[in-house]
Amino acid sequence: MKSIQKWGALLLAVCLLAGLMPVHVHAEHAPPHEYNGPWITEVEATCTADGRRYTVCTIPDCGFILYDTLQATGHKWPTQWDTVTPASCTTSGTIVRYCLNGCGQSEQKFTDPLGHAYPATWTVVVVGDCTTPAVSQRVCSRCGQVETSTTPAPGHNWGAWVNKKPATCTDVGIEERVCARCSQTQTRVLPALLHNWGPWTTVLAPTCQATGISRSVCSRCSLYQDRILPKVPHNWSAWTVTLAASCGTKGQEIRTCSMCNRVESRSLKALKHVSDGNWVITRAATLRQRGQQATTCTRCGQHASTRTYAPRGYRYEVWARAFGPMAGQASSALSGVTDRLIAIDMTQEGEHRFPLVTDDGWQIGTVVAKVAGGTLSVSLQQLSEPTVMREQQWQLFSGLHEVSVFSLRAASMPFDMPVKVSGPVAIFSVSTLSNYYQGNENKTFHEAGLSPDGQSYTELNERMTVLMRGQGSGRLVVGP
Ligand SMILES: [Zn+2]
Ligand SMILES: [Zn+2]
Ligand SMILES: [Zn+2]
Ligand SMILES: [Zn+2]
Ligand SMILES: [Zn+2]
Ligand SMILES: [Zn+2]
Ligand SMILES: [Zn+2]
Repeated sequence: MKSIQKWGALLLAVCLLAGLMPVHVHAEHAPPHEYNGPWITEVEATCTADGRRYTVCTIPDCGFILYDTLQATGHKWPTQWDTVTPASCTTSGTIVRYCLNGCGQSEQKFTDPLGHAYPATWTVVVVGDCTTPAVSQRVCSRCGQVETSTTPAPGHNWGAWVNKKPATCTDVGIEERVCARCSQTQTRVLPALLHNWGPWTTVLAPTCQATGISRSVCSRCSLYQDRILPKVPHNWSAWTVTLAASCGTKGQEIRTCSMCNRVESRSLKALKHVSDGNWVITRAATLRQRGQQATTCTRCGQHASTRTYAPRGYRYEVWARAFGPMAGQASSALSGVTDRLIAIDMTQEGEHRFPLVTDDGWQIGTVVAKVAGGTLSVSLQQLSEPTVMREQQWQLFSGLHEVSVFSLRAASMPFDMPVKVSGPVAIFSVSTLSNYYQGNENKTFHEAGLSPDGQSYTELNERMTVLMRGQGSGRLVVGP
């Protein structure tokens, strides 16, 4: 329809131009033109395209045509939209509207989701407390969607700790606190304080007689503990001499304990005499006993030291024996024995005399042996009157086989008395301890010297040895 209008207008215009042009060309006039005629729409304006109109100059024979543009009208939209798809709680909807000019144009757009339609108030599902979260819910009236709201538990609202039982040295304490919201209580234990021991103080001082006491007290509960202090040593004074030591006599000194008055004493060593070094004879020597000398103590005047002495030529405690062959020479079984033995043929009745000779070689007497009727009698004679003889003894043997170191020390046979001899030969030994003087009637003795009967003692010993061994006989008498 629109295009038909266009074309009609165009045809009309061409006709007019064909009819008017000669007029216009032929009947020009001075301007201005005059337009008193109507405007004729040549092309209608639409919603989106411009149209055109014209009018013709009304001055006769001019025929000038004036054109004018008709502006596009634009769509004319209604204020109301039509729903295509409705929106839901969570999805968009679609709406549409059509141009009222009838151009067929439409406009479509989306609408926002509606959102849930929750009620204004929540429904409490769980009532919370200090430790349990609170839970509330509400339901969308449109779609039934449930919304849940959880409020975290706030925790207890504890008050300050309150002491219910104070701790002591030996017992625990208790404290309590209360929640201002739910009144729940909580307790806690305070550890025992333990004793607060003070320093050790001596409450009883020890002495040398008794132990003391040291004490430590707890400053909190007054409990105390004691410790024994050991006894102390005596407090001795210096030593004081109460009795001075003297020659040969102990002294004494004491000391006293100032605490217990105990007295302790100890002896002082006896002093030794102080010799003046001057030896004085205090007892003259005799052959019966040695003499004695002494020095004098310069302190006490008593004898400081003593010693015995023997004058020149005096001999004490020397063994003297009847001189015959030594036992060790007569028998190899007695080897080393120095006792001397005498042998007598018991058939030789009468007196037999033998020298009594000291071990240091002096003849100090004579041994007289009397043989009579199978008996033997032994006597001792000393040459010098002052000679002292002790432990005189003689032993008798019936043969060499009886001689031993033991039988030589056997008890003595009696002197000066006849003793029965069994057997043909008497073997005997004679000895005595002697104190003698090397001078006067005493003489030095020589084995090689001659006996009074003219034989040497060596010869005599050989003959007696033969007799002892049972190999001969003969006279053994020695003078005088
Ligand atoms: Zn005109
Ligand atoms: Zn339109
Ligand atoms: Zn909903
Ligand atoms: Zn609470
Ligand atoms: Zn205490
Ligand atoms: Zn004491
Ligand atoms: Zn003295």
